[in-house]
Amino acid sequence: MLTKKDYELYSQKAAEYLDKAGIAITDEEKSRIEVAEYELGCIEKVGLELVVYVNTERCCAKELVLLPFQTCPEHRHPEIAGEEGKEETFRCRYGKVYLYVEGEGDGPIQGKVPEGMENYFTCKKEIVLLPGEQYTIMPNTLHWFQAGEEGAVVSEFSTKSRDEFDIYTDPRIDAAGKRNVE
Ligand code: ZN
Repeated sequence: MLTKKDYELYSQKAAEYLDKAGIAITDEEKSRIEVAEYELGCIEKVGLELVVYVNTERCCAKELVLLPFQTCPEHRHPEIAGEEGKEETFRCRYGKVYLYVEGEGDGPIQGKVPEGMENYFTCKKEIVLLPGEQYTIMPNTLHWFQAGEEGAVVSEFSTKSRDEFDIYTDPRIDAAGKRNVE
């Protein structure tokens, strides 16, 4: 668990990245920036900061902030009660994002799999996103992503977000009650 002080620190860092990306948010949004550390206790390696703009029955929009080399762990969005899982589009706004999805890769990946967690990062098909570039992940497709050395800001557009149903490859995250966000 993050301390309140850490939570504030990472939320403040996220606000600075949004500012660098030229993305304006209100003070109210700033006050509810979320910090996800996936209960792993290594937020600078595996973690994510985000602000949700809207999440209705039909659509969701948020900004995701990744510090340099910070990584969102591998997961998928399954079908729930006969309803298709979440479809998400990631659009890079600042920095560089290494995105990995299920499928054949072309060779060694450029991202750095967090040490000791190799079994939980299985996707090898690499998509590199620079500002202005985007990629759509279809429902129930495994994916993970990592920022490059400058960090990254990513806009996410998706169908309804129901984080509690996301399935993580790392069983420790699943066991942590799926209080996760992206
Ligand atoms: Zn996702």
